Amino acid sequence: MSYFSIRSVSKTYGNQKALKSFSTELKKGDILAIVGESGSGKSTLLRIMAGLEVQTSGEVWLGDKKIENPKEKLVAGYDEIKLIHQDYALFPNSTVEENISRPLLSFDEKYTRNRVEELISLLRLGELRDKLPRQLSGGQQQKVAIAKAMSVEPEILLLDEPFSSLDSIQTRNIMDELKEVFTALGTTVILVTHDLDDALRLTDDLLILKNGKIIQRGNSKDLCLSP
Ligand code: ADP
Ligand code: ADP
Repeated sequence: MSYFSIRSVSKTYGNQKALKSFSTELKKGDILAIVGESGSGKSTLLRIMAGLEVQTSGEVWLGDKKIENPKEKLVAGYDEIKLIHQDYALFPNSTVEENISRPLLSFDEKYTRNRVEELISLLRLGELRDKLPRQLSGGQQQKVAIAKAMSVEPEILLLDEPFSSLDSIQTRNIMDELKEVFTALGTTVILVTHDLDDALRLTDDLLILKNGKIIQRGNSKDLCLSP
């Protein structure tokens, strides 16, 4: 059964076609990587999926709910669908632990404690819990940003080149860790990246985007991938 469904989504800026009738489906717990070079439409697609931008045509469905784009959502996005990009979006004067628990302010105290501890443990942030963002490396900050986004158990986590400011060894290590965490928690994830190696670290389920169109989707073993 499909869970997150993108149906014939197109986006035009002036006379520039950024997305051309893009369709794809995800099941709960799927980890999909969308790979494409710069300008292929990746960020546009994620912003539309997150409800942060209005498509020119087509529909986005999460379960039986249509993702519409009322004005307030265009600013804040949807709670169920969290988008993370390369700037870490942490509260600078709050510790790691406070950053992760902050989105849970309105939640039950016991739930908050359990969820924060679970994320700190899975993402191996225990030794950093009392540190401020500026005391962390870029990779550590990004892990905290991901933990913060995951604290409210979003239905879908969207990652837009989240590690483009890190070097490739750091990125590789974090991807390996995240793959474990996402698999353990059954998180549904879409990563967009220009880097095929990064994508393959996280998942075998690839979608190749070129000029706003899908040119291939499938298991990495079955695709013809040029280096
Ligand atoms: P990617 O994330 O793969 O680099 P984008 O989604 O950012 O691709 O861009 C896809 C195409 O749409 C590009 O040609 C880009 O110039 C164009 N585009 C993206 N955002 C805008 C915008 N706000 N206004 C005009 N053109 C845009
Ligand atoms: P939500 O959980 O509602 O998506 P966030 O917790 O990500 O929201 O952030 C709430 C608001 O605070 C957002 O507008 C976000 O951009 C802003 N914000 C987050 N981190 C910082 C920060 N370190 N400094 C300033 N603003 C921030």
